[in-house]
Amino acid sequence: MPHLLQTYDPLHVTFTEGEGLWLTDDKQQRYLDAISGIGVTLLGHNHPEWVEQAKIQAGKLVHVSNMYQIPEKSQLAQKLCQLAHMDKVFFANSGSEANETAIKLARLYGNRQHITNPTIIVFENAFHGRTLATLSASGHRQVQAGFEPLSSGFIRVPFGDINALKQIAQSRHDVVALMIEPIQGAGGIHIASNSFLQEVRHLCNDHHWLLISDEIQTGVGRTGKFLCVEHAGIQADVVTLAKGLANGIAIGACLTKGIANELFTPDKHGSTLGGNPFACAMALKTLEIIEKENLMQNAALQGDLLLKSLNERLGHHPQVKSVRGKGLMLAVECKQPCKPVVKIALKHGLLINVPQPHIIRLLPPLVIQPKEIEQIVNKLEISLDEFAKLQSN
Ligand SMILES: *Cc1c(COP(=O)(O)O)cnc(C)c1O
Repeated sequence: MPHLLQTYDPLHVTFTEGEGLWLTDDKQQRYLDAISGIGVTLLGHNHPEWVEQAKIQAGKLVHVSNMYQIPEKSQLAQKLCQLAHMDKVFFANSGSEANETAIKLARLYGNRQHITNPTIIVFENAFHGRTLATLSASGHRQVQAGFEPLSSGFIRVPFGDINALKQIAQSRHDVVALMIEPIQGAGGIHIASNSFLQEVRHLCNDHHWLLISDEIQTGVGRTGKFLCVEHAGIQADVVTLAKGLANGIAIGACLTKGIANELFTPDKHGSTLGGNPFACAMALKTLEIIEKENLMQNAALQGDLLLKSLNERLGHHPQVKSVRGKGLMLAVECKQPCKPVVKIALKHGLLINVPQPHIIRLLPPLVIQPKEIEQIVNKLEISLDEFAKLQSN
């Protein structure tokens, strides 16, 4: 690939088509997709009703500028606000852009109050994106190294450390917002406890900080509810979504509630492609199918089954330290760095990923069924056995 910048190191496999949880490569080998293009293809591949809508909308209208009325955009905004219990939406094209929007909102909020250096609390191990502000908000050295100077205006605390947050609340007066993934995804599936999220909500209330929930990976039903914060019975002031929102068409969304609703005014923010008729129509259809096929309930149900099955079959595996997850966002934590398992699993027809050295991540499509869960666990067990054998040689 002489003409591609070397931002990726792809595996040597080329998929040519997909059907449900299965992908086929150019040699007619089949693979069970337990990663969904990193949490994107919620409906599985080639969902007939979604494909039909893509054809219809492509043949009707793909793009007009936000200078004009876009009914698909208004309808999608209404639907999202209803599902997420939020008030207003801005549409972008990616997760990073949705988070940039949230960060800009937080700064507007601070500057309105004449706070000189409005600061956003973020967490160790967080991942919020690859643009300059979002990589600065992220807590991974590898996404930041070489891109200095980073954006200022972030302060970092350990994930789950309520005392560190309380200390900041007492000692600083420039904090305007707190940004959190309710489950850290790229960081290795670290699940914030309900009580921690509730305490965070209280702290944000007490100190008038905007609570920004980055639900780019956890949202749109992945954890069994539309938003992951619903498990804790709390609401954020700003929510960001992307990844699976349109089942693979580029889209990002920044949702607001209450005080965050009125911060933007015309010309303060925008996007040429964000909110275009095609992306919005496809997101609408994705949400419609999720509701019609009860896919959030399915994510909760099958997620429990997958977690149980992983625990039973792999919980005592010599390579495995622990298994955890919520809905269809799961991790198998290994005792040793387990990157080689990706290639071994690929050989056995299973797609997974290793976002952190010891963590195998599973993000299967929301349409998964028990038969496919059994196949995933079988293939993963075979792969871990083979990995163990390689380790002992
Ligand atoms: C994937 C992800 C992002 C970045 O989204 P892009 O679409 O790659 O820009 C941000 N936050 C979280 C939690 C993510 O999982």
